[in-house]
Amino acid sequence: MEGVPYFISVEEAQDIVNRTPLPRRLEEVPLDDCHGRILAEDLASKVDDPPFDNSSMDGFACKHDPEVNYPQTYSIQGIAPAAGEAQERVLEPNKAYRIMTGAPLPKGADSILQIERCTIDEENNTVTLLEAPKPHFVRKQGENLKQGTVSLKAGVVLTPSRVGLCATMGYPTIPVFQPLRIAVLSTGDELKQPGEDLVLGEVYESNSYGLAGLVRWMGHEAVRYEAVNDTMDALRATLQQASEECDLILTSGGVSMGEFDFVRKIMEEEGDLHFWRMKIRPGSPPLFGLWNQTPLFGLPGNPVSSHVVFRMLVAPYLRHAFQADEPVELKLRAQLKDSVKSTQDCVTLRRVTLHFTEQGIEAFQPRHQGSGNLESLASADGLTLLQPGQSGEVGTWIDVLVL
Ligand code: AMP
Ligand code: MG
Repeated sequence: MEGVPYFISVEEAQDIVNRTPLPRRLEEVPLDDCHGRILAEDLASKVDDPPFDNSSMDGFACKHDPEVNYPQTYSIQGIAPAAGEAQERVLEPNKAYRIMTGAPLPKGADSILQIERCTIDEENNTVTLLEAPKPHFVRKQGENLKQGTVSLKAGVVLTPSRVGLCATMGYPTIPVFQPLRIAVLSTGDELKQPGEDLVLGEVYESNSYGLAGLVRWMGHEAVRYEAVNDTMDALRATLQQASEECDLILTSGGVSMGEFDFVRKIMEEEGDLHFWRMKIRPGSPPLFGLWNQTPLFGLPGNPVSSHVVFRMLVAPYLRHAFQADEPVELKLRAQLKDSVKSTQDCVTLRRVTLHFTEQGIEAFQPRHQGSGNLESLASADGLTLLQPGQSGEVGTWIDVLVL
């Protein structure tokens, strides 16, 4: 432990872990498979969007003449449908084109009036425009995006609208980062799988399921290992296997001061420990280091603590490693309606429910805040981000991390 940073601030811990790089492997995937993936290269549009001047309305296209008084009658030259056309249509003087939404604007036309403000005389093949046609119903070529403009930066997560934008820009396949393989392994002699019977002293193993969910939420692949017994040999064997099969290891449990806290012990004696313990409540005992060259987070065993430390330490690390600023850690300002116990030296993350009112967002703390109380996390909307020394009195406006 000599020289290993101990009980450091959240920011110091983030700085330390960010110094260890993670492998970034690129792959090209079809558009259909890129949802939720992290973009690996800046994407510049291959085309103008829209690619041609077109109508945003069903109606009539004509040339706007400021001298003309409306209503005004034009003869109908034809119909411009929203479809590919070999030749550009050319509007003749004193005529109007029936035009559909998305159809190319005939050459010579510059404005459109929506169909609801037009009266058609079928017998004479004329249309009367009840008011002046509007230039703003023309969507101009490139008004959304010019060819060559980078609209999606490397590191963004491909949400549904971004996947659509990739298609708009003309990309059939997308360069994305391969998901990391992240080992999730729990430690503890007391852990049983759901479905098995419990004897006195045993609990159901829940951390690996929650942590695997967080890993997938971040767009990576979770590899769950069977819970490891509290012996150095069992732990060593599983860590060895995980370090060979995965890019990053998350353990839970066994990082405190207890007799059987072997994750801490093995990292101290046989690993390369970069720090231990962090100024955060709940979740102060985490550690970070390398096991067999593989980065390893030793997360606390208490289910709420392991979740909180993932959000505050592992998630920012993964984002940093892929230059990703997304999914954004969504933070809100809320006013405390119950008092929350804060501390002088730790960031305090309490589980709160949020109510949206005319006066802003209100935060309530309806449950007891034991770090083993997973129900209090599952029923919460957010975590208080009380900074060291910040008051948690009723009425205080605070930042809340959305769960
Ligand atoms: P530890 O840090 O190993 O002493 O664990 C702290 C507390 O968290 C103990 O009450 C453990 O039983 C509990 N715990 C540890 N690992 C898990 C797990 N994977 N699932 C559920 N509870 C756990
Ligand atoms: Mg344990």
